[in-house]
Amino acid sequence: MLQQTQVSAVQTAFKKWMQDFPTVQVLASASEESVLLHWQGLGYYSRARNIHKTAKQILQNGGSFPENRKDLESLPGIGAYTAGAILSLAFHQPEAILDGNLVRIFSRLCEWNFLPTKDKNSKDAYWAEAYKWAQAGSPFLTNEALMELGRTVCKKTNPLCKNCPIQKICNAFKNNRAAEFPPKKETKYVSWIGFAIAICDSEGNYLLQSSPKSPFLKNQLTFPLFEYADAFKNVFPGIAENIISFENVKRFAFTGIVEHSITRYKIRCSVLCVEAKNRKGLTGTWIPKQELPKKIISSFAQKIVILTHDF
Ligand code: SF4
Repeated sequence: MLQQTQVSAVQTAFKKWMQDFPTVQVLASASEESVLLHWQGLGYYSRARNIHKTAKQILQNGGSFPENRKDLESLPGIGAYTAGAILSLAFHQPEAILDGNLVRIFSRLCEWNFLPTKDKNSKDAYWAEAYKWAQAGSPFLTNEALMELGRTVCKKTNPLCKNCPIQKICNAFKNNRAAEFPPKKETKYVSWIGFAIAICDSEGNYLLQSSPKSPFLKNQLTFPLFEYADAFKNVFPGIAENIISFENVKRFAFTGIVEHSITRYKIRCSVLCVEAKNRKGLTGTWIPKQELPKKIISSFAQKIVILTHDF
C-alpha cells in the first residue's frame, strides 16, 4: 500500500485489510472483487491485483514466504525496492532499498544532478550508495532511519538541514545547494478527453461494465467510457450508440464534467446520463443507484456517480 501512497492515506485501509485478510491463505482465497474493494480510494489498483496473485503463488509454492531477492522479485508486483524493504525490515538482511526519500537524500549528499531513472549508470550509482548504507550495520534500522530522515528532515521543499544528523557528510549542505537537488523529474502526462455514459432503467438501476481495454480503469466495474475529442453540445453523440441505440433513449442530459488524474493520465470526462426505455441489448451489471458507491472503487468513477444525482 505504501508504494506511491502516503502513510496517512493508507492507515484506515491497512487496518481493515489486516483484519479481513490476516494471513496469506485468507487473502489467496478471497475474491478479486473483495480485494479491490479493500483497496478503494488508494489508487494504483494493479498493486491490489498483484498482492492477491502473489498470495496465490506463495501458496502454490508450498506456503512459505521467500527470503531472498531473486525469489521475491519473481513475485507479481515485487520489484527491487519492495524486495529490499522486505528483506531488510522483516528478515534483517543487509539489503538495500531505494525509494523517493532515499533518492532525494543521496542526490543531495553527493550533489548528483541526475536521477536513477536517467540511465543504467545512474541507477547503478544510486543502488551502490544504497548498498553502502545497508552494509553499515543494522540494515533494518538504517533503511528505516533513511526513509524517516527523507520524510521529516530532508524534505522535498525547505529541508531542515540545521537539524540534520548527517549534515557533516552532505555536500549540498556544505555548498548551500540543497534546494538544487534532486533535479526535477519530467512527467509526461497523457491527456484523455471523452465521456462516460451513465445509463439507468426506470427503477434507477445503473449499468456498469468492466473495462478491459481502458488505459486507467482496467478490468474494473465502471460506467462505459468513450474517448471522444469533439466538443459536446446537447445532442446525443453518435458514438454512444455503440452501447445504447437512440430509439431506446427515453431522456438524456449532460450533467457535468469530471476532471481527474490517474497515474499519468489527465482526464477530462463529460458525464452523459441516459434513461433507457428498456434493458434490451444493454449487457453488463445493473446496480441500484444507492449501491453504486459500494460497487465502484475508483475515485474517478465515484465523481461520475455524484454527477448522476440531479438527473
Ligand atoms: S544536510 Fe540538508 S540536504 Fe543534506 S541530507 Fe541533511 S537535510 Fe538533506
